[in-house]
Amino acid sequence: MDNSKFVNLELIQKTENLDANSAWKKCLTIIKENVTLMTYNTWFLPIRPVSLDQNTLKVQLPNPFFWEWIDEHFSTIVKKTIYDVLGPNGKLSYIIADEKEIKEEALFNSANTSNPVIIKTVETKKPSHETNLNPRYKFENFIKGEGNQLARAAAGAISDNPGGTSFNPFFVYGGVGLGKTHLIQSIGNSIVEKFPGKKVIYLSTDSFTVEFVEAIQANRVNEFSGFYRNMDVLIIDDIQFITGKEKTQDLFFHIFNTLHQSRKQIILSSDKPPKELKGLDERLISRFQWGLSADIQPPELEMRIAILKNKAEDYGMMISTEILEYLANNITSNIRELEGSLIKLLASASLNSKEITLDLAKRTVKEIATDRKINITIDDISKIICTQLNIPENKIREKTRKKEIVLARQLAMYFSKELTKNSLKTIGLHFGGRDHSTVIHACNNVEQMHKSDTSMRDLIDSIRNKLELNYS
Ligand code: ADP
Ligand code: MG
Repeated sequence: MDNSKFVNLELIQKTENLDANSAWKKCLTIIKENVTLMTYNTWFLPIRPVSLDQNTLKVQLPNPFFWEWIDEHFSTIVKKTIYDVLGPNGKLSYIIADEKEIKEEALFNSANTSNPVIIKTVETKKPSHETNLNPRYKFENFIKGEGNQLARAAAGAISDNPGGTSFNPFFVYGGVGLGKTHLIQSIGNSIVEKFPGKKVIYLSTDSFTVEFVEAIQANRVNEFSGFYRNMDVLIIDDIQFITGKEKTQDLFFHIFNTLHQSRKQIILSSDKPPKELKGLDERLISRFQWGLSADIQPPELEMRIAILKNKAEDYGMMISTEILEYLANNITSNIRELEGSLIKLLASASLNSKEITLDLAKRTVKEIATDRKINITIDDISKIICTQLNIPENKIREKTRKKEIVLARQLAMYFSKELTKNSLKTIGLHFGGRDHSTVIHACNNVEQMHKSDTSMRDLIDSIRNKLELNYS
């Protein structure tokens, strides 16, 4: 690295004359001269100054990933910059945007540039009111789409009138990474804001179970149960994990009754609707169905694009619409993976000091596809497709030219090639002893339909979602 650029005497200032804004501005000026424009835009522009106390400049980062990245790749530059701007005792500490519960703070210390020590302390700051809610999850950054319309609308109504709607309990279900946690925590955050007097608590089913076991051991079950019976809003995430735990279910049953009778709001999430939760007490299944059960479906294309745009802005990334659309077209299963694709893209672009190009996006998508652990067989695929298209399973192997059967067969061949490791030959054999060129033809045909026919595209995407959700 060329360090000569750091000798910039004009920028050496006495810290007492600086406020956080101007100190950070000076830092940016130096940093800009020493990194590529893309690195600057991606990693440094989104950082906000917070305060300057003595020699310590505190800044805010959009997410923890920024810290890891800067620490790993730019710590030398940052340290030298602090030295230049804040002097030999200068320090840079950071906080993560919006993280109230756990405040991570790390320090870059400019006093010791030759042998830099990064002091990292994790302090936990208890919010005034222990809700366990993560303030990052808000309605404002929850994007609406067809797949979450009902759930989102009900969530809004509940937050206006907790316990006072017929949506009690409110039971949200759907696959992983689709926004259940985000949505139910948004309700909690909104209620805390609108009704500061209400006692709101969020916890995962696992924490609930662990606390319960601890309460049993400490002989404090009554206290434990009383605590939750005393809430105005009880939000429990991933309630499917209560299945098979009889004692916990029994206790939860009583808490549920007390809350429900006194018109307190109960909000639950799960990967499946209540009646499909095997190993759940019938009494609970029926109670879970008293209020409103709303599902969240995988996001459609427009929503995927909207989410990517939004997150790219959050991360301060500049990405062309073409690339966002490419990602949205190719990462279809869930929202967590969409977010992951952006981070991955960002990381590989700046690791290799490359621009974010369509080519890089294509490679990132490929990597994600290989990372994805999907464990599915040709038979699983045939079964799901036949169910979806409403045709008997054995028909798919028959020598018929009936339109819907040919379609099912082609789709099944296409997904078998996409999602399993079988050779074209093996795939052909599975579908009535057809040869490998038939499989290639089928795959091309499906790809063509995906490009040119919107209703086919929806069908293909929805099958892909189903396969991935059920077998990842
Ligand atoms: P789940 O609990 O269903 O597994 P999460 O709520 O944890 O899913 O969501 C996964 C990630 O996707 C989170 O970072 C969340 O903020 C984001 N996310 C999910 N749904 C949306 C949405 N509708 N708008 C914006 N971000 C979303
Ligand atoms: Mg969740």
